[in-house]
Amino acid sequence: MATELDKVRYLAGIGEKRSLLFGKLGIDTVGALLRFYPRNYEDWSKVTPIAQARGMGNVCIKATVVSEVKENYIRKNMVLYKFTVKDESAFMTVTIFNNKYDAAKIHIGQEYLFYGKLSLESFRFDMNSPQIRPTGFEIIRPIYRKTAGLSSSAIEKAVKTALTAVKIEEFLPDEIIKKNGLCSREYAIKNIHFPSSAAALKLARKRLVFEELFMLQSGLLLIKNVNRGKTPCVMEKDFSKEFYPLLPFELTSAQKRCINDAVKDMASDRPMNRLVQGDVGSGKTAVAAACCFCAVKNGYQAAMMAPTEILAEQHFKTLEKIFKDSGIKVALLTGSLTKKKKEQLKESLEKGEIQIVLGTHALLSDNVYFKNLGLVITDEQHRFGVEQRARLQSKGNSPHVLVMSATPIPRTLALIMHGDLDVSVIDEYPKGRQTTKTYSVASSYHERIYNYIKKHIEKGLQGYIICPLIDEEEESTGLISAEQYFKELSEKVFKEYRLGLLHGKMKPKEKDLVMRSFAAGEIDLLISTTVIEVGIDVPNAAIMVIENAERFGLSGLHQLRGRIGRGEAESTCILVSDSKSAQENRLKIMCKTVDGFEIADKDLALRGPGDFLGNRQHGLPELHIADLESDLSVLKEAGAQAKALILSDPLLKADKHARFKSEVEKMLANAQKN
Ligand code: ADP
Ligand code: MG
Repeated sequence: MATELDKVRYLAGIGEKRSLLFGKLGIDTVGALLRFYPRNYEDWSKVTPIAQARGMGNVCIKATVVSEVKENYIRKNMVLYKFTVKDESAFMTVTIFNNKYDAAKIHIGQEYLFYGKLSLESFRFDMNSPQIRPTGFEIIRPIYRKTAGLSSSAIEKAVKTALTAVKIEEFLPDEIIKKNGLCSREYAIKNIHFPSSAAALKLARKRLVFEELFMLQSGLLLIKNVNRGKTPCVMEKDFSKEFYPLLPFELTSAQKRCINDAVKDMASDRPMNRLVQGDVGSGKTAVAAACCFCAVKNGYQAAMMAPTEILAEQHFKTLEKIFKDSGIKVALLTGSLTKKKKEQLKESLEKGEIQIVLGTHALLSDNVYFKNLGLVITDEQHRFGVEQRARLQSKGNSPHVLVMSATPIPRTLALIMHGDLDVSVIDEYPKGRQTTKTYSVASSYHERIYNYIKKHIEKGLQGYIICPLIDEEEESTGLISAEQYFKELSEKVFKEYRLGLLHGKMKPKEKDLVMRSFAAGEIDLLISTTVIEVGIDVPNAAIMVIENAERFGLSGLHQLRGRIGRGEAESTCILVSDSKSAQENRLKIMCKTVDGFEIADKDLALRGPGDFLGNRQHGLPELHIADLESDLSVLKEAGAQAKALILSDPLLKADKHARFKSEVEKMLANAQKN
């Protein structure tokens, strides 16, 4: 008997040439062939009466031929064969185009199965070019994704051969099968390809979807445990109690919990790999500062990387202030330092005279060395690739890693998206923070909006007006670009005020300049596209108007709104849109909640997971059968069970998990190849 590891080439009927075609579909082994699940099915098992089949898409009709086959010559090389059939409900005309072979098989008085689409034309039921089979073929037939040179039925044949040639073994742990009432793997594979009934197909699919999502999530958790080598940077002492008094505010309990998680991680001889996920304004910087403090007090250096100069600078200022009386030396390394300054700074880093360094990508330069880097932090992690994080890590000897993100991920997808990271969530805002009030209005409110903005500016507050990005093709649609809008507003409505403009076509230096003057309070109202920096902290900005709000997704709106409501002043976000459907859906949700996770969950429900997983890192196994949209609840359940399994057996060392482990490893290895 063959095994699933054997190459498809060794199956009867598959030669060298055909196996190459299978290779094109990513099928090299018999196992891969069996995992090449049908894309769809032709259901010949459910016979529909002619009178009920209209508008149902493809149906199977069982009917008796009641007329001779008539040949109609339309033109050269085009012959139509027409005949009438009848079942208990009605008559139907069948037309076959040019297929002499099919037509010759038809005999009056005999019963056949006709598979195709039925239409009703001038009170007559018609079916054009159906597939025709003798009765007895009432099966559910698989349809496969094909490649040039390899038809669905060729694949069907190969799968049939494979099913007789191999013994399909179980590999899911017993307890998982029992707990979820899954069918055996053998039953599932057989019935996913050749379902014995609709119910069997359902059962098979249930098992395979669960298997896939369970393996995927177990695999990711397994990698996390396997990858975690040792680190010499063991930070035994917890200095967080000494850190708290350095802050001008009381930390929220969520912040304290995150700090605790990280401190515990860093005390171990396994390097930390933790994601701190906190909505905009939840206070991630203070958590980062606490971790730096802990590292430094334990005798190590810490480095924190931000995606832009302005953010790095902001962090630098914050940390410098916090640590000014503690004897800890904090420095800023960015590309725009003078050469001399850079050299000096690098030297002191290498000597260990600087304990905490903030910076941009400049930190990754080849000639930046540390004396003993023990902690690496990246802010706004989605802006950095895995390699960049790895590069910064390589500047130390297996340092601890903390990554921070303000992008809320729906909880269900967290395990898949963050793969190898532990996650701490800051799910609470600092006390006294005013929640931003959000309103959604039609564009007829503009005058009132402008007056409202003016009132804010008069009080010394600042604001944003956000315009959607529009490309040139859209200019005729009446949407107004940020540039145009800025010009109009500064010449008319807001003549007496200081307006700024920010958009994507500006050079980074120019953008930086505008953002800086806004942060310094030199601009009252900033007209901007979505380029306003994530993470920028201007507590004095208390009003935001989002024009054409229907053009933004929920998560986008949430990110934008996070630019305000960061200070003591009451903040207002006004969503302007004339789209009824947006008003009733997304915008309504925005008005109701400021909770980023709730919004992410709703966004997931509205848009499906594609948008979230779209920018995930590569190297994730491909899904063959599960659909993250319709199988979301299975994803969740499988995730919970994967967690429990790996918790009970972190490296899957138990004998009873051996088969499962090897399958998971195979899956991961395959993903690496892609
Ligand atoms: P983010 O999570 O978006 O990076 P920041 O760290 O920039 O948030 O914090 C936002 C603002 O909240 C900053 O001005 C910061 O000083 C302030 N802040 C952070 N934590 C607290 C707290 N526990 N109490 C009061 N203010 C806080
Ligand atoms: Mg931040």
